[in-house]
Amino acid sequence: MSNYRSIKDHSERGYHTVQLLLTVGAGMIVWSLFTIIDDRRVFAALLVCLAIMFVGFALLAYLRRSIAYRLNQASLAEQERHMLLRDDALTGAMTRRFFLEELQRTLGTPFKPRDATLVLIDLDHFKQLNDSFGHPFGDRALVHVVSSIKQLFPDCTTGRLGGDEFAVIVRDADIDRTRARVRALLDTLRMGRLHEGHTVSLSVSAGAALAPRHAGQAEELMLLADLALYESKSAGRGRLTVFDPEMLSDKRHSRFIERELRAAIYLNQLELHYQPITNDRGSVLALEGLVRWRHPVRGMIPPGDFIPVAERSNLIGTLGEWVFRQACLDIVHFPGCRLTINVSGEQLKHDSFLLMLGRVLKETGRRADLFVLEITETVATGAKPEILRRLEAARSMGFKIALDDFGTGYCGFNYLKTLPIDSIKIDRSYIQGLGHDPVAQVFVSALVQIARIQNLAVVAEGVETEAELILARAAGCDRFQGYHISRPARKEELSWVNESSPMEHALSA
Ligand code: C2E
Ligand code: MG
Ligand code: MG
Repeated sequence: MSNYRSIKDHSERGYHTVQLLLTVGAGMIVWSLFTIIDDRRVFAALLVCLAIMFVGFALLAYLRRSIAYRLNQASLAEQERHMLLRDDALTGAMTRRFFLEELQRTLGTPFKPRDATLVLIDLDHFKQLNDSFGHPFGDRALVHVVSSIKQLFPDCTTGRLGGDEFAVIVRDADIDRTRARVRALLDTLRMGRLHEGHTVSLSVSAGAALAPRHAGQAEELMLLADLALYESKSAGRGRLTVFDPEMLSDKRHSRFIERELRAAIYLNQLELHYQPITNDRGSVLALEGLVRWRHPVRGMIPPGDFIPVAERSNLIGTLGEWVFRQACLDIVHFPGCRLTINVSGEQLKHDSFLLMLGRVLKETGRRADLFVLEITETVATGAKPEILRRLEAARSMGFKIALDDFGTGYCGFNYLKTLPIDSIKIDRSYIQGLGHDPVAQVFVSALVQIARIQNLAVVAEGVETEAELILARAAGCDRFQGYHISRPARKEELSWVNESSPMEHALSA
């Protein structure tokens, strides 16, 4: 309950009590008049009643004054609190939540849409500004950007959506006027801020989308304006781009995916499914964790659609950490089995990967030797010394390393001697060619022989039929994975795994 409300309720209770007292007093007077007038007791009673009423009236007058004063104070405090929530403390621009509400109000309803332009504005090179001139200068630059926006867009609403991200709601769809205003903003900012005797010139990138022409809903309009902003940035910054439906083409689509994937990781909308890997007797030795994204609107999005986007942005680190943490939590569902996770080449480019592995193991209380890191052949064969060093380091922590999709890359058998790996997964295309393709047959049996010498386990991937399983077994593969054994599934659907995975097999995986 707000302070204002509690004062109001409290005061009203006091007020009503006094009112009740006065009513009782008045009642007693009426009662006295109706009883015997010449009675002395009646006279005394009348005096008492008059005294009560006098005190009551005095109290009431006091209460009235005090209530009015306290209500006034509380309402001022309420306004202040609202302003603190609504306005960003540094720049005075509206905070994100209030801005989005205001945007939706401005756009009206689908039956009664109103014209508006949403302009997203990002300060260019903000990080470098902070790094080179210090945070106080960065703060001053942000304040300057907002005051310049407010000056040039006087009848509009300005919001701060994030660190250096601002937005303006213009209450018309006159794009020429908006263009002129953004040009003026760029000119003003170019004149710069003074820093230790030097003028530091500022610049912004802007993207605009029009309502209801491009979109009628606040969130959608934001996404479209963001695409336009992205375009401004890739075209060299310091400019305004207006949204164009062309921007929704496939390549640009990745911008949507990136944005939504970030939210999906944050909102825990990803799932880790598991696919069993068995030995030749059908016992499950390990399970491969395969990430799934169940999008609330687009349905299930396969990893092939979003892993490359995550790799191109800096999201792959966050995604990889989510996957490993989930695997650590889920491993208790599969006693006696190892879990394998896929690691992208991008993750291996930074030492933070090893730190992440150590941190998550510590947080979840798991042992590294229960996990296998799968890296693709292309990553391994083209690996720079520092990547190999990280693989060695992961191995010395206790992780096993598997070479995934072997045969799709350079296929260098020579590499197998030097790479720090424990098993090889032969790509599905070779397993499916075993029945009819002599190249596949020669390739698989050569690989199996080399693996035996090197003491590496060989996993046949993508086994789809009983015939493929028999052929892969005959070719010398010792582990099997594929739809014929089980499709990837949620851990709850794989309860049968525990019954068929004796502990003794697990540690040989
Ligand atoms: P992968 O590591 O080679 O995983 C095997 C893929 O083959 C999986 O596809 C799996 O569902 C599919 N598969 C398994 N058995 C069969 C079969 O019998 N027939 C056919 N046609 N396909 C089979 P999925 O889940 O779509 O994953 C595709 C790729 O995405 C993975 O290939 C892996 O490279 C990548 N990926 C998946 N999860 C992750 C992850 O958590 N992190 C990273 N970095 N990459 C991941
Ligand atoms: Mg894999
Ligand atoms: Mg594979």
